[in-house]
Amino acid sequence: MAQDLLRSGEGRFWRGNLHCHSDRSDGLCGPQQVAAAYREAGYDFIALSDHFEERYGWRITDTRNLRASDFTTILAAELSSGPWRERITYWVSAVGLPLDFEAPPAADPAEAIRRAHDAGAFVVLLHPGLNNLPLDATDELPGFDAVDAVEIYNHNTFGSVPDRAHGEYMVDGLLERGRRILINVGDDAHFAFPGDRFGGWVEVWAETLDARDLLAGLKSGSYYSTQGPQIERLELDGEQLRVSTSPAHAIALGGAGDRWLDATSVLDEDGGLVSEGAFDLSAFRGSYCRVTVIDTGARRAWSNPVWPWWPQPNRFIWDGSGSAEATAAATGATAPMGTGGGSSSSSGRREKSSRSCPSVPVLRSAAAGW
Ligand SMILES: [Zn+2]
Repeated sequence: MAQDLLRSGEGRFWRGNLHCHSDRSDGLCGPQQVAAAYREAGYDFIALSDHFEERYGWRITDTRNLRASDFTTILAAELSSGPWRERITYWVSAVGLPLDFEAPPAADPAEAIRRAHDAGAFVVLLHPGLNNLPLDATDELPGFDAVDAVEIYNHNTFGSVPDRAHGEYMVDGLLERGRRILINVGDDAHFAFPGDRFGGWVEVWAETLDARDLLAGLKSGSYYSTQGPQIERLELDGEQLRVSTSPAHAIALGGAGDRWLDATSVLDEDGGLVSEGAFDLSAFRGSYCRVTVIDTGARRAWSNPVWPWWPQPNRFIWDGSGSAEATAAATGATAPMGTGGGSSSSSGRREKSSRSCPSVPVLRSAAAGW
């Protein structure tokens, strides 16, 4: 029987961005303006990932009051593994953090990354290309075992340092070493220039627009990453992978198998569009493969990796690591409304920017369901 690798249970796809910043750290706009801009652009949710650092007062931005009936947030932060100037420091977006997440010991910043993962957060390695993070260094990086997914595309970097925007080398390098990681993309929006947002997002399969459901969908790999194209079906049937997409220039399958065998991409020789692909996976026996879709505007979509020969080829159905209480705390489900981050309790120093937030729509406050 064919196995659906994209969806898990009842639900629909929800569009979200897991990597953006407000003026609570080094972004230019307030949290409300960031959320409003994303909602206006058609997103269903964001994880506002302000930097969690001493200079910003070690605080998690409280976005719970930005939730509405048609838009939600997951509490999150960007964590660093060490001093920013150090050559092999790496950064993660930890999605699903408690508001009272504590600062790491001064001598071990990566402790926060391990602790975030242990508490139930979804941990995404950010912009490895921008940081020129060497694959060989990952064996030695503190806390690196906590990484669940790798940002394969960073939209801010594409608009500012374009040759550093991509993380395929890290994704495939880790996968080829046998590491089981998922794929992610993010904007890294700071609202510093128009091209730093709305360019890379995830489509997460979940039953409801509830932060807990979305977090479970992310952690179980029930999502895909995209710049625009849609992946509508990803189905494993014996040795065959069937893929349906929005109209595309090509649907490609790659991985660490014998990638020079035939039938690793579907395209129309006359230049027409394709939207269906059926791939023989025998070339990827014992390894992994993954799907990339490219449309006529050169925008891409990425499936998560598929391990065809493993009992659970789409990695794992989330094993519940992190208790229900931890998950509830991480998504702010049990905390009282209207308290926490964004207050004036910070003793941290905020870096000044000479620029200001561009004009973006502001969420209408006090609407039902806030
Ligand atoms: Zn960032």
